[in-house]
Amino acid sequence: MLGGLLGLLTTFKELLRKPVTVQYPKEHLPVAPRYMGFPALTWDHEVGEPFCTGCALCMRNCPTQCIKVTMKENPLHQEGKSPRRRTVDTYELNWARCILCGICVQVCNFDSIVMSHEHERSVYSRDGNRMELTQLLEAGRRYQEATGWQPTRTRQRAGRGTGTEETSSA
Ligand code: SF4
Ligand code: SF4
Repeated sequence: MLGGLLGLLTTFKELLRKPVTVQYPKEHLPVAPRYMGFPALTWDHEVGEPFCTGCALCMRNCPTQCIKVTMKENPLHQEGKSPRRRTVDTYELNWARCILCGICVQVCNFDSIVMSHEHERSVYSRDGNRMELTQLLEAGRRYQEATGWQPTRTRQRAGRGTGTEETSSA
């Protein structure tokens, strides 16, 4: 009898608790800070240009060959405003072929690419997830704003150790 009442009590408690599910796609659950979504490119706010120099190290090391990148001379360097002699000209990353391994982030020497929080990428066309430079920078901007991401040298200047962004930058 007592056991039955306790069971009923437990059932009522479960009926009254707040739901742990959400009404997707109207609502979304937040991802974990260290979540590794699709790669995105970062923006150097100090200089006003992408961190990416177009060196193509990520392209050469990507196991699925889903990156294409070209570089150009950097006009801001010629004007003395940027430390980068060359900058990215075109960048395409096919998220449909990306396996989220993070190698591109690990090999990049310039803090230019991060594993962002982008992950909901259902599209109707086969080429719908070919992301070009402005789209990748936009995804990077969202990530930088959401996480307060800082490049390695800024973190070192601030004397900070490893944080959530440490695993997401080169
Ligand atoms: S993301 Fe990094 S490794 Fe890739 S081209 Fe840009 S600077 Fe080079
Ligand atoms: S995460 Fe891996 S598969 Fe995806 S672009 Fe980077 S290196 Fe290529």
